[in-house]
Amino acid sequence: MVKITDLPALIEALRPEDRASADRLFDVGATTGSLDPPEAMRTWIEKSFGSVDAVTKQRIVRVTNRITLQGTLFNGLRASRPLDTGVNMDFEREIEASGGDPFCRPEEGTPADVFGRVRGEHAITASNVAKYDGFHGVIVFDDHNPLHLTPEKVSDYISVGLEWCRKALEADPQARYPFLMWNCLWRAGGSIIHGHAQVTATRATHYPKVEHLRRAASSYHAEHGSNYFDDLCRVHDALGLAVPAENGVRAFASLSPVKEKEIVVIGRSPEDGPLRRTVGALLRDYVEALGVRAFNVAFYMPPLVPVEEDWSGFPTVVHLVDRGSPANRTSDIGAMELYAASVVASDPFKVADVLREAAFG
Ligand SMILES: [Zn+2]
Repeated sequence: MVKITDLPALIEALRPEDRASADRLFDVGATTGSLDPPEAMRTWIEKSFGSVDAVTKQRIVRVTNRITLQGTLFNGLRASRPLDTGVNMDFEREIEASGGDPFCRPEEGTPADVFGRVRGEHAITASNVAKYDGFHGVIVFDDHNPLHLTPEKVSDYISVGLEWCRKALEADPQARYPFLMWNCLWRAGGSIIHGHAQVTATRATHYPKVEHLRRAASSYHAEHGSNYFDDLCRVHDALGLAVPAENGVRAFASLSPVKEKEIVVIGRSPEDGPLRRTVGALLRDYVEALGVRAFNVAFYMPPLVPVEEDWSGFPTVVHLVDRGSPANRTSDIGAMELYAASVVASDPFKVADVLREAAFG
């Protein structure tokens, strides 16, 4: 079984052209952290981590994406813990018990946007009461339980969101930059249990993190003459991190995840059914095969109409990330993540393996 802590050797063993791309994209370093436990701690360490040796010498791999400067620290000790995929029945009951909320009857319980509502097969939009931006809508799912998702339902939620963006653009021709997101359950920033995603449309320039990626990819193209996203997919694929996706769509377990089990899905346009269904299928497997309960999804999309800056070669980039167990009171994000680098326990090779197993048996 390949491990993230083997990454330096795995990159060295790539074919020369893949290795060149990997070296262009990633800075990878490994180090060992050591400690000296007192006799009284040994039993506890053995019980918690399997052996004392596993703790006294800890291998840490640091991966930095040189282009975006997104960086992650993987600790072999944390990554070697088994992934918790158990389903908590109390938690399921808590979700069901919260039914009967305003999102269960959105037409009476939520406001409409100035352009009305968008109705899909599995969702309807509302106007967000306390807005992030001038246009901020909610895609309210027909399903109360956000985890009862299927690829078809997720595809419809996204279609409804895109239609909402077109309506916002009609209402304000300056609202050209769309953003679609999903905060599933409390740990992911969702304050309402009832299934819902959110959509915004902003003016002037795209949100800073999206614009940062556009600029980074554009500089990469200017410097190396190749498409950043193609090279990123190629390196992940060559290392064995690709996960199942429909035709014309690429997906992988990220080498520099922002937090646990991050998956990146890349497609031409969010209008494409295969991209929308791939995101849905991966979310279903996130929940059913990886046991994820709280997650974030974010769609990086080019503007809806031509603008001054150059978006050529920028695809639709979708991020999926696990935000941890609802049973855990500790936040998954601390000062390290906010101000330095992400610290991640889940091994992307293990995540990719589980997702491939779920899709192909
Ligand atoms: Zn509800």
